[in-house]
Amino acid sequence: MERIGFIGLGIMGKPMAINLLKAEYQLVVYNRSKPKVDELVAKGAEAAGSPREVAEKSSVIITMLPDSPQVEEVLTGPDGVFDGVKKGSLIIDMSTISPVVARNLSEEARKYGASMLDAPVSGGEPGAIQGTLSIMVGGSTEDFERAKPLFEVMGKTITLVGEAGAGQIVKACNQIVVALTIGAVSEALVLGSKAGVNPAKILDVLSGGLAGNKVMEVRRSNFLEHDFKPGFKIDLHHKDLRIALETGRDYGVSLPLSAVVDQMMSSLVARGDGSKDHSAVLTLIEDLAQHKI
Ligand code: NAD
Repeated sequence: MERIGFIGLGIMGKPMAINLLKAEYQLVVYNRSKPKVDELVAKGAEAAGSPREVAEKSSVIITMLPDSPQVEEVLTGPDGVFDGVKKGSLIIDMSTISPVVARNLSEEARKYGASMLDAPVSGGEPGAIQGTLSIMVGGSTEDFERAKPLFEVMGKTITLVGEAGAGQIVKACNQIVVALTIGAVSEALVLGSKAGVNPAKILDVLSGGLAGNKVMEVRRSNFLEHDFKPGFKIDLHHKDLRIALETGRDYGVSLPLSAVVDQMMSSLVARGDGSKDHSAVLTLIEDLAQHKI
């Protein structure tokens, strides 16, 4: 069995790493803040003092970090993964980052005799805990086949979507649909509620027809109870819309609806709500209408 390195033990990374431990993989872990490492060590993982040490001690290295700069730092920075990576090792970045950065890092990995997959996920914290994430993968078929047993521990829908960077492109598409759906559900709830209808009834009815969607189902209580403990932080979804808009610019694709929701999230971040769940977009629509559902 391959020895697995895992870097980035946040909301997503921690449960993903725990699932690998449960599947009896040997894990070497590193995180910026130490308490998360200690938790994993208590469950049987080995602690490493730097990303370099993780790379030296494992043949597959998984990263689950916030954004492109952190992935670049962990891979290419001092005491980074590239300083310790062995020939033939496989790096799997499961964070959501820029497709361009993903492609560049994959080329860089090759210079060290290693290879790389971009494998961002959807399905959120519950999917990470239950091991039912959707994993969209960019890279070679050979690397995909090698990583598949690990993906099967962490996820359910596992798809090779193209060459390096393609996983991140599909993830950007995913984040557009989720963001716009949150915006649409929020507007519907505020309109219906201010016009006198019980918002729970609105969700019940809409979920039975063409308007039905997963956001409504999974975030139902967040909307109805104003429970905005993250889940998925606005800061991170705002970052994902930035990636989508930049990618749109790179390819000459206009994304007017994404731009509007991006601006709404900018406002939420500016007023200090960046660490709330993305369903808190509802509160901005509520403020515009001067009505709380
Ligand atoms: P998080 O902020 O909870 O976790 C990030 C972790 O990385 C933290 O433990 C932090 O200490 C660590 N970290 C940050 N910089 C580091 C560095 N330089 N070196 C080592 N460790 C470092 O974020 P998350 O919600 O787990 O998200 C991780 C990635 O997964 C993001 O790209 C996010 O967009 C994506 N994602 C999140 C969700 C979700 O629902 N939370 C769903 C799908 C995808």
